[in-house]
Amino acid sequence: MQKMTVKDIDVKGKRVLVRVDFNVPVDDSGNITDDRRIRSAVPTIEYLVNQGARVILMCHFGRPKEPFDPEMKVDRMGERLAQIIGRPVCKLDDCVGEEVENKVFAMKDGDIILLENVRFYKDTKNDPEFTEKLAKLGEIFVNDAFGAAHRAHSSTFGVAKLLPSVAGFLMQKEIEIMGNALRNPDKPFVAILGGAKVSDKIGVIENLLTKVDTLLIGGGMAYTFLKAKGYEIGNSLLEEDKVRLAKELMDKAVSSNVKLLLPVDNIVADRFAIDADKKVVDSTAIPADWEGLDIGPKTQELFANVIKNAKTVVWNGPMGVFEMEPFAGGTKAVAEALAKCNGTTIVGGGDSAAAVEQLGFANKVTHVSTGGGASLEFLEGKDLPGVAALKDR
Ligand code: ADP
Ligand code: MG
Repeated sequence: MQKMTVKDIDVKGKRVLVRVDFNVPVDDSGNITDDRRIRSAVPTIEYLVNQGARVILMCHFGRPKEPFDPEMKVDRMGERLAQIIGRPVCKLDDCVGEEVENKVFAMKDGDIILLENVRFYKDTKNDPEFTEKLAKLGEIFVNDAFGAAHRAHSSTFGVAKLLPSVAGFLMQKEIEIMGNALRNPDKPFVAILGGAKVSDKIGVIENLLTKVDTLLIGGGMAYTFLKAKGYEIGNSLLEEDKVRLAKELMDKAVSSNVKLLLPVDNIVADRFAIDADKKVVDSTAIPADWEGLDIGPKTQELFANVIKNAKTVVWNGPMGVFEMEPFAGGTKAVAEALAKCNGTTIVGGGDSAAAVEQLGFANKVTHVSTGGGASLEFLEGKDLPGVAALKDR
């Protein structure tokens, strides 16, 4: 499970092909709105540069519908990286081919090149021809793109089969912190799960149920569980076809001696809108025609008290519709509780990470995963192909 990292190999004077995750959110004009993923890759890039490696960065951005769509190019990511590290980053207009090869083979020690979006080619198909062209550029492969590690693509998996391959520092940190929590957690181990759908999180719930002492469930998915307990949930989110499963998971919690806590009260609204009428009601008294959009104050306190005493906390999924301020309180309370907890606190999941960032708690927890889908699959206990392909220590 322990992977070799850039520290375990000699990179001086070598062409090092580094997969980074620069798939950052941008606004309508293409401006980067959150550069956390770029910043997170900097320690590996700086280390390689300082060791005298020739650093060839490759990344993907979005899902281009047509090759070389100007809106899907990664120039801005290169510019932002250059600003952050205070060194020139030579952005190329392609990621494979003769011109790219000429530039790459002429690099000097410490140079940085950023290749164009790999998704302009058949990266996602792990196309052998494309993989080979990419691999030709490097002598060593470093994967620092945890956020893309759950995919067996050319740039995450294919090249790792053709070159000696090790983890970057971000990759190592992600798999070490989350891996430790799953394998060997300090107890009590508490997981908080939320978000919209039970169906997205079944694998995570099932895996965590075998490991945690307490499982707290909030967010939209809590209502399917409340329904399974026989409560009326009004217009709250319901996955009818998952009610039975929710019941089974609650039974499993009992037989595994895991405390599973659901919201005891809720903020309900008369419609799904920022200016809706809202009120606090107990989970046993959700009115028909109203929908639960956040956990209530009693639940906030209940959850915060459990989190306070935990030695390991894993959180995935917001407690409410945090994008609308009136329904962000539960998510904020849980973020605050994590910030105050003295144990190891980990946030995984795209929206959860965004919420923690947006609410200003990102620096107050042990680790905010840069992977959305990847961290979910990791929490499900799956082997990520991009990780599995790296050399074992
Ligand atoms: P993550 O990306 O962290 O895994 P999800 O994608 O599963 O999280 O869920 C995030 C979404 O869940 C948010 O957009 C949020 O608005 C929504 N959500 C949370 N609670 C509710 C609720 N009670 N009703 C409807 N949607 C909710
Ligand atoms: Mg999400």
